[in-house]
Amino acid sequence: MSAPTGTPTRIRAGLSDAPEQVDLVVVGLGVTGAGVALDAVTRGLSVLAVDAHDLAFGTSRWSSKMVHGGLRYLAQGQVGVAHESAVERGTLMKTTAPHLVRAMPMLIPLTTSTPALQRVLSRSGLAAGDLLRRGARTSAETLPTPRRLSRTEALAMAPGLRPAGLRGGLLGWDGQLEDDARLVTTIARTAAAYGAHVRTRARVLHASGTSVALRDELTGATRTVRARSVVNATGVWAGDLAEEVTLRPSRGTHLVLRGDRLPGLRTSVFAPVPGSTNRFVMVLPQPDGTIYVGLTDEPAPGPVPDVPQPTEPEIGFLLDVVAATFAEPLHRTDVVGAYAGLRPLLDVAGPDAAGQTADLSRRHAVLTGRTGMVTVVGGKLTTYRRMAQDAVDTAVAGAGLDAGPCRTATLPLLGAAPRSVLDALEEPARLVRRFGTDAALVLGTAREVTGLGDDELLAPAAPTVPVTLAELVFAVTHEGAHDVDDLLERRTRVGLVGADRALAEPAAERALALAAMSPGR
Ligand SMILES: Cc1cc2nc3c(=O)[nH]c(=O)nc-3n(C[C@H](O)[C@H](O)[C@H](O)COP(=O)(O)OP(=O)(O)OC[C@H]3O[C@@H](n4cnc5c(N)ncnc54)[C@H](O)[C@@H]3O)c2cc1C
Repeated sequence: MSAPTGTPTRIRAGLSDAPEQVDLVVVGLGVTGAGVALDAVTRGLSVLAVDAHDLAFGTSRWSSKMVHGGLRYLAQGQVGVAHESAVERGTLMKTTAPHLVRAMPMLIPLTTSTPALQRVLSRSGLAAGDLLRRGARTSAETLPTPRRLSRTEALAMAPGLRPAGLRGGLLGWDGQLEDDARLVTTIARTAAAYGAHVRTRARVLHASGTSVALRDELTGATRTVRARSVVNATGVWAGDLAEEVTLRPSRGTHLVLRGDRLPGLRTSVFAPVPGSTNRFVMVLPQPDGTIYVGLTDEPAPGPVPDVPQPTEPEIGFLLDVVAATFAEPLHRTDVVGAYAGLRPLLDVAGPDAAGQTADLSRRHAVLTGRTGMVTVVGGKLTTYRRMAQDAVDTAVAGAGLDAGPCRTATLPLLGAAPRSVLDALEEPARLVRRFGTDAALVLGTAREVTGLGDDELLAPAAPTVPVTLAELVFAVTHEGAHDVDDLLERRTRVGLVGADRALAEPAAERALALAAMSPGR
């Protein structure tokens, strides 16, 4: 199949004009469902992909925004799964989304009180991670080899580190996403550009292997869409549609700090949890100038909320661990935002002997139910492409669909280009970081739709809010944003800091009003 041409099928809210029959319905538009839609449509299948709320409404927007090699799996002896994860990381960084993923340094501080065992484990962990990188054929140019840092080097990269007893550090590298919800939006937009029908505010009430009963959440109208196959990619909600699936979610919490709380931080820092040899809290500087601190891993039994909430003990735990590594103590008032997400862990064999979440369940699984519906669940953002491939392979085989081979390993997402091309673009750096080569399309669309000059379109929404009117307008015209929440919580991430959200609301309302007046809508 050639690259998309002509007018793209845009992402839209509600079900008006949605097809009544397709080859494949995908339920859920997190990273997994968006990946399934892209995989299926580029194999030549007709696709309807729906979400009850919005793109990236669920777990996919609450991650640590990292693109991991498979070190965790390697530690458990699951070499094949670890290799797969490292390969997917390389694919994202080199081919499919080099505009949205960059190399992220990670520093493990070493102090006079670092236990010898932790030193050895950290060093061998980084060395094993480097072996995985080599095995996945990711070059050292893309992800440099790990090395030991002197005390001076460690302090230069993380000036806030507690200097007393600091001996230096270990420096490794992994991938970091510009923004997890942006990855989902870009995958969904790419799927739409190849012809997939992508609809938000469309809830599946019941599903079988050959049909879905849908409710348009804008109008309340219900309808049935027939399909040759249905893929359930609803993450922690998968069990609501598939009786054979039992999940045991676990909650991970992150804090959001302003960048000036740890000035000069040029690397992520893995702060050891006191008393443990292999647990760390991650301090992760973000491209927008904020810093995330995470994360926890707490069992979260009971009903699955739409939006999980962090607890005060989790927030306190994260602050305490960071305080042990950095010189200046962090206070509760430094926390300008906090978010929690639920990992969709599959209950494969019940809790282990210690009652802990079994690590095996972190692998992805593809299950075919009694009616033929395919459920894909588990895994992680990093491996979404492989999860989608496995799910579509299963759907194609189960329903006998006439489909081509999977193409997504070599298919760049919209805006993707080699780093050298991205670096040479003239558009504003923020737009290039978030849209790659489509930065020009974003700005051009905003100019055309609003008739405004670049000074207004590219001005930050507020001094602490780098979001621009141009990207908000584009989110409405090209990315299916339907209301202020879509714009501030998912197309951009302003909503992670409540005070910033209040400042940005007028810009979001203005973008919606300007786009509504555009003749194309
Ligand atoms: C705290 C935390 C940190 C993480 N960090 C990382 C990381 O750094 N790197 C990494 O690779 N992975 C990470 N992960 C894992 C990763 O985020 C998840 O595995 C992944 O996002 C799951 O995506 P999904 O599409 O399967 O589910 P979701 O993103 O939850 O998507 C499911 C979608 O289904 C929709 N839906 C539900 N029911 C219906 C229905 N009936 N009809 C229509 N739509 C419906 C929901 O609205 C939702 O949008 C992290 C996970 C957590 C919890």
